[in-house]
Amino acid sequence: MGAFYSLLGRMSILRINAKDRDKCTDCLECFVVCPESQVINSALKGEHSSIILDGNCTNCSRCIDICEPKVFSYSSRFKKN
Ligand code: SF4
Ligand code: SF4
Repeated sequence: MGAFYSLLGRMSILRINAKDRDKCTDCLECFVVCPESQVINSALKGEHSSIILDGNCTNCSRCIDICEPKVFSYSSRFKKN
């Protein structure tokens, strides 16, 4: 089942974007609710793209829902940031 969701994640044009990562308050709630929390760190805290391209992200939107300052949103995988 995990492999199936991973495949869906890899194929999706829609990706999670930590677009407003400068608003992050480090509450860690997104890491708690994410079933694959290792996919968040680079987009949220890295210096490069804020888009989560890791295929293990299933686009479940839990991070969007839990984040109070609304750091995350959906965007196209082809967006530049
Ligand atoms: S839930 Fe939002 S504010 Fe909290 S750590 Fe995640 S991105 Fe930052
Ligand atoms: S959409 Fe789901 S799997 Fe992807 S980063 Fe957010 S909580 Fe994690």
